[in-house]
Amino acid sequence: MTDSLSKNQPQQNEQQNDRLHRYVFNELDCRGELVQINQSLNQVFENHQYPQPVKQLLAELMVATALLTATLKFEGDISVQLQGDGPVNYAVINGNNKLELRGLAKLQGEIVNEDLHSLLGHGHMVITITPVKGERYQGIVLLEGENLAQCFEAYFKQSEQLKTKLWIACELSPENNKAAALFLQILPANTTRAEEDFQHLSVLTSTVKDQELLHLDANTLLTRLYHQENPTIFPSKEVKFKCGCSREKTEAALVGMDKQELLEQVESQGPINVDCQFCQARFSFDAADIKKLPS
Ligand SMILES: [Zn+2]
Repeated sequence: MTDSLSKNQPQQNEQQNDRLHRYVFNELDCRGELVQINQSLNQVFENHQYPQPVKQLLAELMVATALLTATLKFEGDISVQLQGDGPVNYAVINGNNKLELRGLAKLQGEIVNEDLHSLLGHGHMVITITPVKGERYQGIVLLEGENLAQCFEAYFKQSEQLKTKLWIACELSPENNKAAALFLQILPANTTRAEEDFQHLSVLTSTVKDQELLHLDANTLLTRLYHQENPTIFPSKEVKFKCGCSREKTEAALVGMDKQELLEQVESQGPINVDCQFCQARFSFDAADIKKLPS
């Protein structure tokens, strides 16, 4: 008995730590989402030596992307890229409708200040949605908001014409990393009443403290924030780190290159190693592997 309990325990904790909850308010024309991540965020940072402000940026980008992904009613992939001319010139979170996410950031200079604009400089956020069926959609917003939450709010306003607000909190340490976010969006009705509902719920949601957002379980948090608004909470979904790289995909990239040149490279420098930039998995190709590649 004790054995099975102790075996089950970590699994339960894991499930609670990386989950996304969606809810609607029965009497109010708004919907909401709550996401809390821990393990999946640790995995994004694994094998990377990011400075603290870059970790913060990626953590915020990851929870915001999870929220955005959960608003989509499709099967497919999503990519949210930040591109700028600051010390962090690139950051990306890739995900899909199963809430499998991965991400990375690239640095080109020394970080002096930690706010969004000091990190990225002038730039934009590019959101690409690629459904399995149907057309690819791309939305671009300038990084003009004070923080990432405001950039996402601008995106929703631009792409869906729906008032949206995000609240993001992170807690990062060398041993463990947590991030969480709340999402509030007006329903497409867009009536005066919906506007009032959104305003009312924004005020309530703004009372949330970072500690609550990061550490309370979903039911306690949502009850504390909205005890009179009576949200109906749908079954939660797990958020996972998953890279999606593979030997096959790496091979496909090599197929486009000159086979003779690749063989000469192997001859002079040994096997060609291709490292995944996201998870650092290494795929190694020797002369025999190269010869087997389709021409
Ligand atoms: Zn990978």
